[in-house]
Amino acid sequence: MSAAIIDGKAFAEGLRERVGALAAGFTAKAGRRPGLTVVLVGEDPASAVYVRSKGKATEAAGMKSDTIRLPAETSQAALLDLVGQLNADESVDGILVQLPLPKQIDEQAIIAAIDPNKDVDGFHPVNAGRLATGLQGFVPCTPLGCLMLLKDQLGDLAGKEAVVIGRSNIVGKPMAQLLLGESCTVTIAHSRTRDLPGVVRRADIVVAAVGRPEMIRGDWIKPGAAVIDVGINRIDAGDGKTRLVGDVAFDEAKEVASAITPVPGGVGPMTIAVLLRNTLVAAHRNAGVPLEKSAI
Ligand code: NDP
Repeated sequence: MSAAIIDGKAFAEGLRERVGALAAGFTAKAGRRPGLTVVLVGEDPASAVYVRSKGKATEAAGMKSDTIRLPAETSQAALLDLVGQLNADESVDGILVQLPLPKQIDEQAIIAAIDPNKDVDGFHPVNAGRLATGLQGFVPCTPLGCLMLLKDQLGDLAGKEAVVIGRSNIVGKPMAQLLLGESCTVTIAHSRTRDLPGVVRRADIVVAAVGRPEMIRGDWIKPGAAVIDVGINRIDAGDGKTRLVGDVAFDEAKEVASAITPVPGGVGPMTIAVLLRNTLVAAHRNAGVPLEKSAI
């Protein structure tokens, strides 16, 4: 059996189009565009690339995009002051402070200072608590994107055995909460898990968010399982070049799974598309303009 390849790129394009159409509707009703402000501190090259693509995608969806670039030596007090100004600015619906931050700044203090209703990354402890207790809030973009792909592929997830490998606050834990919310039986595995292959073999749904190239082998996968590979790892391609691989040994796993996301082109493109979706939702909530949940 060869698995269906889940086309995250195509799904993300469709989501961005839907967000764009709804953003136009919002602009007509509210008299202003939904607005996302991204704050970048320092010159980390990977962060600069992410921030540029977020800005472009935001504008392409008909939203207002602002990027505030601050020098690497910015103090925590100065960044907190900026976050306070953005919280108070009614034209700003979403605030995203690009991580990682320089070492003199406490990331948790910055995240906690963002208004939870503008926290489109879903990293604020209030939003983590809302997700855990089933309240309306913002959910981190990557795991929400994974859930969208899973529901699109499998439909109802109730009763399925799900194993999430990785327990980070930005991927693993919120992913597990989302799957629990869909009535899956959820196991969270991590570096101290005993017999990881045995745990993964139980799963109807495997979500790998580990950051270790091709660690999850094909013979760990239960025949017919759906596999979502969040990992993005750059490895030596052997010819002096590099290439991207996931946390799952794709060529092996695709022979056993019923569906699998590729790397690149699977989960990766979903993250920015969901960020736009979260910003659109934030704009409607902040401006008091109704948005049908089923629309997005
Ligand atoms: P973290 O490094 O924060 O977390 C990794 C998790 O994997 C930890 O919980 C760790 O366990 C666990 N782990 C590490 N080694 C093992 C092992 N040998 N066996 C079992 N578990 C292990 O990573 P993130 O969650 O931030 O990201 C995970 C991956 O997803 C990365 O490749 C990252 O690049 C990618 N990513 C992709 C995104 C996208 O597609 N847009 C967005 C975000 C991340 P422990 O807690 O015990 O240390």
